[in-house]
Amino acid sequence: MKGGDPSVNFCGALLSVTKGEVGGIHEPVFRGNERKYLLDCLDSGVVSSVGSYVLAFEQSVAAFVGSAHAVAVASGTSGLHLALIALGVKPGDEVIVPALSFVATAAAVAMAGAIPHFVDVSPDTWGLDARHLEQYLLRNFRQVGDSVVNAASGRPVTAVVPMHTLGHPCDAAGVRRVADEFGLVVVEDAAESLGSFSNGVHTGRAGQAGVFSFNGNKTVTTGGGGVVVTEDPHVAARLRHLSTTAKVTHRFEFVHDEIGFNYRMPNINAAIGLAQIEQLPTLVDWQRALKDRYQDLMEPLDMGVVRDELPGARSNFWLQAFVLSRPLAKLKNSLMSTCLDAGVAVRPLWQPLHWSRAYEHCPRAKTPVTEDLYSRVVCLPSSALLSAP
Ligand SMILES: *Cc1c(COP(=O)(O)O)cnc(C)c1O
Repeated sequence: MKGGDPSVNFCGALLSVTKGEVGGIHEPVFRGNERKYLLDCLDSGVVSSVGSYVLAFEQSVAAFVGSAHAVAVASGTSGLHLALIALGVKPGDEVIVPALSFVATAAAVAMAGAIPHFVDVSPDTWGLDARHLEQYLLRNFRQVGDSVVNAASGRPVTAVVPMHTLGHPCDAAGVRRVADEFGLVVVEDAAESLGSFSNGVHTGRAGQAGVFSFNGNKTVTTGGGGVVVTEDPHVAARLRHLSTTAKVTHRFEFVHDEIGFNYRMPNINAAIGLAQIEQLPTLVDWQRALKDRYQDLMEPLDMGVVRDELPGARSNFWLQAFVLSRPLAKLKNSLMSTCLDAGVAVRPLWQPLHWSRAYEHCPRAKTPVTEDLYSRVVCLPSSALLSAP
């Protein structure tokens, strides 16, 4: 390790990138048509949950991702909730969720009345691993009639939600093969991975549905919002129906044929989103260039490595991550304190989901990889602004 105080060295390297000017961990960039489309949307008077920007935004996301259908919704979390319901997840089902994720992955399962069942992630991708999942299902679940049932709880498992951690693609195609074998549906939590590809295929396309977030801290934003993509026209129709209060088309009567939600994205948010998608390839290039800069600056400190992409993956590098070498894990909190004191926005990974009071009673596997990553990963300032020309 380089001489001197490791916290000071670590913070100093980061400060040479942020220069104290970019305060957040992932600030948005609005350098395209955002103002133009917003004003046009205001002038049109159509600001709410129907309008031409919603349609144009949905088409631009579908074209970028390469999916047949895209349905714009109020948030990534509501998109996950809708997708689970639309694909048949029922109250009392168990749904396989990685123990390492933002809490929304588990919350969406709980909102559907189902129970998250946490499994560990791969030390390479930091997401679900197909072979590990298959072994886990074979050991802990058994076939009962048409269902695959948790031998301990007696509850059926009906879905898997792989998540692409910090934008790095996990093996969602492998997870889909295992899920097909067991008759489970796959909803990809691709909230962080817009602009990330696995073997040339955009994330979010391996499952029956994939969900992107457009929250203000993601690669591109609509202020708040989400998009669900699917290849299946029936699933797309059902997502639209459930997201618009399950209202049946009628000239004047309010007829609702099931429990629905007010989950559509407002036109005014979609106007920002359309301009952001136009900028997406540029912003991803900047995020990728930022990774190279961090590697050049941080790796000579000999404290660990900057998270890189794996062979076959093209990552959007949504959040840059520094993996402390194991002996330095104990320094994680003091490093972060030094950085935060200096105005450098660093964050830890999320705590393992089963540590949270809301989910501590949920079934789970052993999660050594999740706990190891949590103990020594520091997320670095990641706004594309940091490498903008
Ligand atoms: C951001 C995020 C979500 C939720 O998206 P919102 O738009 O904030 O509701 C879900 N899952 C993961 C992994 C996320 O990072």
